[in-house]
Amino acid sequence: MSLNPKRTVAELKELRELTADENGAQRLAWTDVWQKARKWFATKLVGLPIEHHYDAAGNNWVTLRGASEKTLLIGGHLDSVPNGGWLDGSLNVLAGLEVLRRFATEFKGKPPVTIRLVDWADEEGARFGRSLLGSSAFAGTHSIAADRVRTDKDGVTMQDALRRCGIHMDHFPEAKKERANAAAYIELHIEQGPVLEKLGLPLGVVLGTKGVERHAITFHGQEAHSGATPMKQRKDALAAAAKLALEIRNIAGKHSDAVCTMGSLKTFPGIVTAVVGRCEATLDQRDLDAKVLAQMYREAQEASKRFASEENCTVEWSRIWNIEPIPFHPHMVELCEQAAREISGGSHRLPSGPLHDAAEVSRAGIPTVMMFVQSLRGISHNKIEDTREEHLEMSVAALDRLATKTVDWILKAN
Ligand SMILES: [Zn+2]
Repeated sequence: MSLNPKRTVAELKELRELTADENGAQRLAWTDVWQKARKWFATKLVGLPIEHHYDAAGNNWVTLRGASEKTLLIGGHLDSVPNGGWLDGSLNVLAGLEVLRRFATEFKGKPPVTIRLVDWADEEGARFGRSLLGSSAFAGTHSIAADRVRTDKDGVTMQDALRRCGIHMDHFPEAKKERANAAAYIELHIEQGPVLEKLGLPLGVVLGTKGVERHAITFHGQEAHSGATPMKQRKDALAAAAKLALEIRNIAGKHSDAVCTMGSLKTFPGIVTAVVGRCEATLDQRDLDAKVLAQMYREAQEASKRFASEENCTVEWSRIWNIEPIPFHPHMVELCEQAAREISGGSHRLPSGPLHDAAEVSRAGIPTVMMFVQSLRGISHNKIEDTREEHLEMSVAALDRLATKTVDWILKAN
């Protein structure tokens, strides 16, 4: 039995049938539907010459032992956001399963290197606001103390939700054991953006995940009566924030792949008859180049001070979160490009704006690359998320090709 990409598409539809409602996929991590998806996945493993276990952080591991202990990892995630799409995460897991089946058949249960498929736990972080949970435990970058007390919208703590699934957060560090012998990591994912569709290309190679600077910015002015306060004497905090909201477009526009977003803006007192005395904004800046990211952060700070002073206001910044850019392995980027070209006739190199588990694996020092397949309309985290079936099939074939190239590279390097 050789690679059967049509089976992957059929299995994706089966999973959708099982775990979506009229609003989309409901495989929120640590819920019953998510566990149902994982149980369904386990039924697909029956009869394969593999070992299957969950690690201390709830990551789901399928191991096909090879002649060498050196290991190729293939990863994805079965969890989804609420009202999510049918492909985000699960494409990688099911395409990886198809690749694993092909290796098992071709090499009669013993490929030249060990192949491991991982379904990461809680990639989305949709319930507790903590993304890449399982892969960060694997990478050893996880901070248990900060996450233990996180709560979902019903007040359930993360610790309790995980315990219900048999996971004890104190044991998270044991997930690092799974890194043993890992020689390379590959991940296929839908692009979730419009770039490949615009270029008319089914497949792309991901150069790395962009670094993120995320800040809360508060402009302080003075609340005043909207009728009695002359325009020239106002300290309008919203006016300063509004100038910054437009300026970040110029700041990002100097760099080809950079993005800056002011996603939230709150005004106080927030009534129709008062000049805004306080305005709270958020800023999210991303780029693959650490120098560009640092420059954009600096420029936004300088601009905010300038606008604050123009409007007789003051401004303060506080960092919400940040992560450095994580470039993928140059040689694996090369292999991925070859695989994409051989299967689809073309390829494009692009950075990923969203973070992925691959970023955590790469941080752990394991050579890593990701492949993107085109998303229709560039839409994801939405029930209308979609990719043409022929492109899905191509992506499975290209992942398989990349796996073969990577196995050859692992063998040569050792
Ligand atoms: Zn995903």
